[in-house]
Amino acid sequence: MEPQRGDVLLDEPALDEEEELWTDDAGTDHYGWFCVATAPFPCPAAGCTFVANHMTAAHLILVWEQQDDPNLLRHAQRAKEVGRNPRVVVYRSEFGPSASYYAWEAAGRPVHGIRPE
Ligand SMILES: [Zn+2]
Repeated sequence: MEPQRGDVLLDEPALDEEEELWTDDAGTDHYGWFCVATAPFPCPAAGCTFVANHMTAAHLILVWEQQDDPNLLRHAQRAKEVGRNPRVVVYRSEFGPSASYYAWEAAGRPVHGIRPE
């Protein structure tokens, strides 16, 4: 069955629709994967009150299977350059919902409210 865009989100703001298109992976148990803890930073979307304590995309914590994944290291380096004090840590479900970086990338890198570079 093809998921129909909009069917499940009639009451949600349009901005959130695209988040639903790539989060099938979000229920996956990423225990033991790696994520990047950072200094708290607010979601860049206008009017959004979400504050992230990890590297996230559309409010989901991005996780990598390998601690030395080149993409993980690249994103951590960029976070460092903008003063977000990144630390690579083992992901735990208490941190919040997760999504694998590669699922995110495959979905066209949706980000809440802003476009990736
Ligand atoms: Zn947001």
